[in-house]
Formats: sequence, structure tokens, C-alpha cells
Amino acid sequence: MDCVNCQGKCWRSGRQKNGSQRYYCPACRKFQQARYQYKAYSASTDSQIRSLVCESVCIRGIARVLGIARGTVLDRIRGLAAIITSPACQSDQISLEVDELWTYINRKDNEYWVAYAINRGNSVVVDFVVGKRTKATLKQLIDRLLSLKPKTIRTDKLTLYERLIPKRLHRAGSTCINRIERKNLTIRTHLKRLSPRTICFSRSLLMLESCLRIYFWG
Ligand SMILES: [Zn+2]
Repeated sequence: MDCVNCQGKCWRSGRQKNGSQRYYCPACRKFQQARYQYKAYSASTDSQIRSLVCESVCIRGIARVLGIARGTVLDRIRGLAAIITSPACQSDQISLEVDELWTYINRKDNEYWVAYAINRGNSVVVDFVVGKRTKATLKQLIDRLLSLKPKTIRTDKLTLYERLIPKRLHRAGSTCINRIERKNLTIRTHLKRLSPRTICFSRSLLMLESCLRIYFWG
């Protein structure tokens, strides 16, 4: 066998714990195998994890289906989410719809919002924030949206929005946000993580954010 680092000749050098042949490269002084059985290193693993997250398979489920460790699944999800950025909005003057999904982190009384905005033209998610049910969370989202210079921002009648969005941009009322309300249903159907009654998910903030990122933009 040739060395993976220097392409030199390797010697046979005993066996691994699982019985597969081990090789030793005298030039690099490294042990290696011709073929690795652990599936986490195969090229398709990341894309499979991405699809399974979008199908709302839980962490343990993904680990079982792919035959890899739970810790690896968590690491990969975090890693995948970290390199995903929100798609840039090409045209300015877009109309946005903003709404918030109720959820909780760890305990039922620890209430959180997933506040997010969609482009009314194509229903693509423009931005989102996960945070406590406070004005600060919404402000974080609205400030980022205002920097996109939208034509209008449509919301429900929640009074917090009136104080955050300039009056000339703001349209409020239940009929203004029919598209995002329909999307709420889709998201809750696709991501069981957000359904109010389930014991299948850990309810960690980091995992929720990571999975949303993969689901929206992955
Ligand atoms: Zn070598």
C-alpha cells in the first residue's frame, strides 16, 4: 500500500482492534489503513445529515440510520450550520412579511421566539432570530431587515412592532401576513423540533438555530 501523505511504500504492521490490516509508513512514521470502516468519513455523510435534518429526523435517529456516533452527528450539524449564510437579496425594495413562532428551550416555561422574515415575492426566508419573547429579540431582527431597505414590512398586530418599524414602512393586520402564516404551518409540519408537544428533541438553543439554518438555507 502507498502512504496517503507521501505516496511512499508502507509496511504491513499488525492489525487494528477491529481486525483490519494496519500499515506503517517509515518515512512519515505514521500508521494508516487502506480502507476505513467508520462511515462518518465518507464523502456523502454531510449531505445525508443535511437531508435527514430537513426531514426532521432526531439526532439519535440520524446516528442509527447512518451508523455513526451521536456526538459526530451533533458536531457535523454544528459545523454545517456554521458555514451557511443567509442568501443575499438581489433586488432592494422588496416587501417583507415578519412573524414569530412560539417555542421553548429546555423547559416549557422558558419561552422563546423564532422570529423570521420572508420575501413576499418568492416566500424565501430572508433572515431569522431565535431569542426570548422580548422586544430585544424582535429589534435584532427588525434592525437587520431595515438595513436591507425594504419597501414594506408586514406584521401581525403585535404592538411591539409599532415601536420598532418606521410608520411609512409598516403594514399591520392579520390579512397582511397570509403568506408567512401559511409558511408557519409548513415549518411546523416539516420540523417536528418546533411542535409544541414532543419528547423527541433535546430543545437546545444551539441545535434549534443550527437546524433552522440548515432547513432554511442549507
Ligand atoms: Zn508516508
